[in-house]
Amino acid sequence: MAELNEAISERRRQTRSNVYHYLYQSPEPRSKQDISRDLNLSLPTVYQNVSELLHAGLIEYAGASQSAGGRPAMQLRIIPGARCAIGISITGHRLRFAATDLSREEIAYKDLPHTLNVEDEGYSEFVAEQLELFIEENHLERKNILGVGISLAGIILPEISTVLYAPTLYLRNLSLKALIDAIPYPVLPWNDASSGGFAEWYGSEFRESIAFLSLAEGVGGAVLVNGDQYTGNNYKSGEFGHMCVEWNGLPCSCGKKGCLEAYCSAKRLSSDLGITLSDFFAGLEKGKSEYTAIWEDFKKHLIIALHNIRMSLDCDIVLGGYLTEYLKPYLPELREMLAESDPFDRECQYLRISRYSKDSSMLGVALTFIRDYLNSI
Ligand SMILES: [Zn+2]
Repeated sequence: MAELNEAISERRRQTRSNVYHYLYQSPEPRSKQDISRDLNLSLPTVYQNVSELLHAGLIEYAGASQSAGGRPAMQLRIIPGARCAIGISITGHRLRFAATDLSREEIAYKDLPHTLNVEDEGYSEFVAEQLELFIEENHLERKNILGVGISLAGIILPEISTVLYAPTLYLRNLSLKALIDAIPYPVLPWNDASSGGFAEWYGSEFRESIAFLSLAEGVGGAVLVNGDQYTGNNYKSGEFGHMCVEWNGLPCSCGKKGCLEAYCSAKRLSSDLGITLSDFFAGLEKGKSEYTAIWEDFKKHLIIALHNIRMSLDCDIVLGGYLTEYLKPYLPELREMLAESDPFDRECQYLRISRYSKDSSMLGVALTFIRDYLNSI
């Protein structure tokens, strides 16, 4: 008997889910008659499910449709802001916050430079306070927050909330327990590049496997196979930043030489030169010879890495990380350079720039809460 009830309630849940997702995927509001016709459900069943979804605050009326005769039908649509999730990116002396709602669009953003170190006493409380401030400033309803994701450039073991190794933050074996305890919402820590890769996969229309290459302070990556991250046997898959692109080349933050990160980090085009990224690209536009030489070297090593990734994985490669804000105008040239070494493809359209650009690393981990919630409706 209990089993039968469970089966019935699961069937009912599935119907409600179908009604919600039908409205979620419709570009325009739809009527109950549309739902009934397109989902092949009786009108009383549609009324009941719509009433439950209205009551739960997940959908709303969007006015009446124009009709040639008879009564105009009331139109329904989802409420994107019914739930939201937040991502926090932790890098050296900088916190960045982004929020997304059920529409998967970015709805709030904040960049906060500060002077604390991650391992300092009081750091967890500081992050928690700034999070509350971000929530208030953007009028996010606390009861609607599904969770808070933390993205960090390091190898993270989520099951024990520990950062095993984060070279750009100079950290080894750092427990995130205090930080997780300081935040009064469900918290998920995740590697920044894995998070960025997930954002690109889940937020875009593409549903194929991708390699995500994050170009930021450090260089990282992730391999997503049909939406699931290929983690490797030791959570070190997709560490594209430490692929060797020059034997015995420039020193890298990992202690080795010739890594991609040593050639293609945002740092190389900014803080290493004592300038900002926008200074660099402005100088490059004006043909400043010092910048042109670095840029040529940057591109050469980036192409070696992109070529090797493509040859090993045969999937689209998506560039993310805050450096990509400046890379759009150079994409055709990068594709052309890549085509020169690609024996199979003359266009190299498989190379693209992330939809969320600089914010992908925070939004990806936030979007995991959105995905789980949408799957649960
Ligand atoms: Zn390295």
